[in-house]
Amino acid sequence: MRDANPQTIYLKDYTVPEYLIENVELNFILDEQETRVVSKLSLKKNPQCKIANPALVLQGEELDLVSIAIDGTALDKTQYQQNKETLSIAHVPQEQAFILAIENTISPKANTALEGLYLSSTMLCTQCEAQGFRKITYFLDRPDVMTRFKTTLIADKDKYPVLLSNGNKVAEGELKNNRHWVSWEDPFKKPCYLFALVAGQLECIEDSFTTMSNREICLQIFVEKHDVDKCSHAMQSLKNSMRWDEETYDREYDLDLYMIVAVSHFNMGAMENKGLNVFNTKFVLARPDTATDSDYEHIEGVIGHEYFHNWTGNRITCRDWFQLSLKEGFTVFRDQEFTADQTSKAVKRIEDVKLLRTRQFAEDAGPLSHPIRPESYIEINNFYTLTVYEKGAEVVRMIRTLVGENGFRKGSDLYFQRHDGQAVTCDDFVSAMEDANDFDLRQFRHWYSQSGTPTLEVTQSYNQDKQTCKITLKQSSKSTTEEPLHIPIKVGLLNSDGSSAAVYTANEETADEIIIELKEKEQSFIFEQLEEKPVVSLLRGFSAPVILKMEQSLEELAFLLSHDTDTFNRWEAGQKMSCQVILGLIEDCQKKRTLQMNPLLLEAYKNVLQQPWDDLSYFSLLLSLPEENYLAGQMDVIDVDAIHTAREFVKQALAEQLQSQFQALYQQFHKDESGQFDAGAIGRRRIKNICLSYLMQLETEQNYQLAKAQFNTAKNMTDQMAALSCIVNSNNPAKPSCLESFYQQWKNEALVIDKWFTLQACSSAKDTFDTVQTLLQHSAFELSNPNRVRSLTGAFSQSNQLHFHAANGQGYQFLADQIIALNSLNPQVASRMVSALTQWKRFDNARQALMKTQLERLINTADISKDVFEVASKSLA
Ligand SMILES: [Zn+2]
Repeated sequence: MRDANPQTIYLKDYTVPEYLIENVELNFILDEQETRVVSKLSLKKNPQCKIANPALVLQGEELDLVSIAIDGTALDKTQYQQNKETLSIAHVPQEQAFILAIENTISPKANTALEGLYLSSTMLCTQCEAQGFRKITYFLDRPDVMTRFKTTLIADKDKYPVLLSNGNKVAEGELKNNRHWVSWEDPFKKPCYLFALVAGQLECIEDSFTTMSNREICLQIFVEKHDVDKCSHAMQSLKNSMRWDEETYDREYDLDLYMIVAVSHFNMGAMENKGLNVFNTKFVLARPDTATDSDYEHIEGVIGHEYFHNWTGNRITCRDWFQLSLKEGFTVFRDQEFTADQTSKAVKRIEDVKLLRTRQFAEDAGPLSHPIRPESYIEINNFYTLTVYEKGAEVVRMIRTLVGENGFRKGSDLYFQRHDGQAVTCDDFVSAMEDANDFDLRQFRHWYSQSGTPTLEVTQSYNQDKQTCKITLKQSSKSTTEEPLHIPIKVGLLNSDGSSAAVYTANEETADEIIIELKEKEQSFIFEQLEEKPVVSLLRGFSAPVILKMEQSLEELAFLLSHDTDTFNRWEAGQKMSCQVILGLIEDCQKKRTLQMNPLLLEAYKNVLQQPWDDLSYFSLLLSLPEENYLAGQMDVIDVDAIHTAREFVKQALAEQLQSQFQALYQQFHKDESGQFDAGAIGRRRIKNICLSYLMQLETEQNYQLAKAQFNTAKNMTDQMAALSCIVNSNNPAKPSCLESFYQQWKNEALVIDKWFTLQACSSAKDTFDTVQTLLQHSAFELSNPNRVRSLTGAFSQSNQLHFHAANGQGYQFLADQIIALNSLNPQVASRMVSALTQWKRFDNARQALMKTQLERLINTADISKDVFEVASKSLA
């Protein structure tokens, strides 16, 4: 239901809670149709609240209130007020603590929004972040109210043999009528968004971990019976995460038990509930024949992420939801570093930057641009964004670059020591970094309050007589009133023979590279003792989330691609080369000129192919062309057809000219292997499969056979998927039969069938739109399952710009139809789907008009949720 005027919440309006909840005892009589909740809250007036006799206002939505009592005396209807979102009691005891007892009922089965307590297949589970707890019972649903929870679950023994909640199991027993009960107690205070319960027929995989202080922790993963053989990677990832956090941050796990439950219907990736993480199955289940290498890596990353939250999020949480980046930015940074340590640092950094630059930069340039600490929101669920998460992590990374690795550890130690058990702000985090290092981050704090991606314009000049090189940097943001940012920039210099030049400045010297700190709108840096004009390698490791504008010739870029010692900038040089060439070809397309391949790019590719590479995953990235959505970001007016044509032309030219090299590499690294998750095997598969994708570009019978053979004989999902993807994007006549046999092979594995949907939704084949329409009617498509919706509607609208943005507008209309269908079922997922329409201003007038029409249609839909309303209306503003 849409309010007449959805209310905007502002950070500047924050006040401390009027009341605090010391303890809560929750009793659930579980049933999918009607669950009964009895809660006993020990409340007291907050000593920090200066208001005299404030009313007690509890949040609660979609609850059926049965009874309410204070200190054992029932309240009658004149003593409290109820509306759609709150329950207010005007008079409560002020001097001493009191017990508020509330009984209410809820219907998990009717809960399709998947917030609060809901049914997923046959199991009952919860999702409370950000504000789902208010759909379970009345509460002070805000993160700065931290409470000790005791939870008792009562349910039928056959339907719900496993009953879980946060903390430690303290008692259990049997009841009549084939029912049983279990009590859980969490000794740590927590906000209610970290509450969880799970009930169902679940199998448990168990292991243990010995902490650095020699405590034995029991580790349990709960899944449905048919998934028991897909948990070993998740378990190993959990143990790796626990060890890594001890070694890197000196953080030890604090309960005796750590549980993970995999759930098939889930809005997000996973949730860090204290001691009882609830995960989307996608980020738990893996077996080499059902999961790809990137699935394995994501599982490890997400298991790590949720585990790391135990310190950065749970023990120290957010004061209010505007501070979301406090826990998410820091924790994403931690999981990025964890994955980098487990796999390849070079590859991980490149992949993170790719995501940031294609998706977050687009968000930052669009109508929904917001700072990592937003100032206002209508629906907080809309702020679980790439900006808060990924840019938030970049901001933490910049702090580490500025204070150094040891300084960062000192700062995080102080942060944990100061704030353990508290709900704090982003400012508290920055202050801890400042105080531990005696480092001034006052100007740096603008990163938390300013939105948009800054642009850095760079000019350089070399003075032969003085043997100096001057680099001038000019920063700008979309608004001129904004303060200049404090930006760390990592720089290296290269001699003409490819060796590193020692970097000398007036007062500093390091062997290879230095970090310069840009603080002014415009600032120059002079490097000395340079006998020849150096080639500058700027923003190494992508040391700041900015757009770098720097004139570089193709020759200069080719030189950096051959010689730069910074793995990120080396890759970046190749990407810039391809990008320049493709953008030139896009212009040729638009002017109907004949397309011609640039020989310098071909030469650069040859060079890369000739060199020996230890890290094959990195090698495969060097051979990859920039993605279509990245190229779109480089254009003033996005032309999806020209982008596709130009990029395909380059890919085709490379395939034709380098065919024998690609074939040789394919043969060299094609092994009949079962899909182990180790760096060597992953690298072999990556390099082989990128070669296959080039070869398939040639559309020859021989290469069709190659792909088909790989598809038929693959023993692991990475190889099978890679082959099928090539087939689906080609004119290979085997396409329908391969898709059908894949479906028959995997129809009982939901996560694999998601891939089957995605592959077809992302295809560049001409008939893709019709295919997507047909797939909507497929018996395996389910609108109430977020993973399925993301795999079809989400993939088509967000990853297939060629067909989604078809000139006739059918893609836009299709998406709006789907959003409207989803709106009443699951507003959170519906709202996320709107993002593909928010970039409408980046397209030509005709497409703009078509997209706008659909956004207006959304806003004018009866009963539009505030989630969808906020995104659609802000897009049009
Ligand atoms: Zn998180």
